[in-house]
Amino acid sequence: MNWSLRFLGTGSAEHSGLGHSAAVLEHDGQPVLLIDCGFDVIPRFVQRYDGLPPAIFLTHLHLDHVGGLEALFSRIMFGAERLPPPALFVPAALVPLMQSRLADYPNVAAEGGFNFWDAFRLVPCSRGFWWQQHWFDVFGTRHHRPGTSFGLVLRGCFTYTGDTRPIADILDDVAEAGGPIAHDCALHGNPSHTGVDDLDTYPGDLRTRLLLYHYASEDDAQALQERGYRVARPGQAVELPPPAPDASRSG
Ligand SMILES: [Zn+2]
Repeated sequence: MNWSLRFLGTGSAEHSGLGHSAAVLEHDGQPVLLIDCGFDVIPRFVQRYDGLPPAIFLTHLHLDHVGGLEALFSRIMFGAERLPPPALFVPAALVPLMQSRLADYPNVAAEGGFNFWDAFRLVPCSRGFWWQQHWFDVFGTRHHRPGTSFGLVLRGCFTYTGDTRPIADILDDVAEAGGPIAHDCALHGNPSHTGVDDLDTYPGDLRTRLLLYHYASEDDAQALQERGYRVARPGQAVELPPPAPDASRSG
């Protein structure tokens, strides 16, 4: 019963060849949950797993994190797979924004007869959600306007920050059960994202758990590594400890 976090992409919004940042929680090599769905994420997912994701969690609504949903809609509604709609876990605060940004486009299919939401099983969440007998905690982060970006925790197993400025105070609480912390980090920070110098403010025990992603280039990844951090690479799977007993329904 092995758990791992596979990074499908580790890049920033620019097209760097690293892929838009997204990761898959795997259990015994099988995909459990896709985190984020930028433009190139579904092709990478299909290449890796030869199928579509059973469930998706969205951290926020920048297009490098949700831009792939329109093509996924088409594939689900008109593709050969005829799979049931994947569960789509979306923080409740994002649902109205998602409705206006993606779902409300007039005549989503030229043929008519379909709604954007027909392709997905929307599960709005606030504190968190159950999926495959495990409880995933959702927490607010700091990326652009307050209340528009969220991270994810499977207690004891992993934490995923999504795009964010530094959040050591929040991680101290939500990630206390252990496991790696996949963390937004570029070589240089900006008003929306963490830079490596920002991490100097993190306590040492938190820094050793970080797994950096969302950087601009392979050169930057190497520079981050030279600063002593673990850096996730596109395609890499990182082994995880098992979820804490209180995160599991059978625990
Ligand atoms: Zn963003």
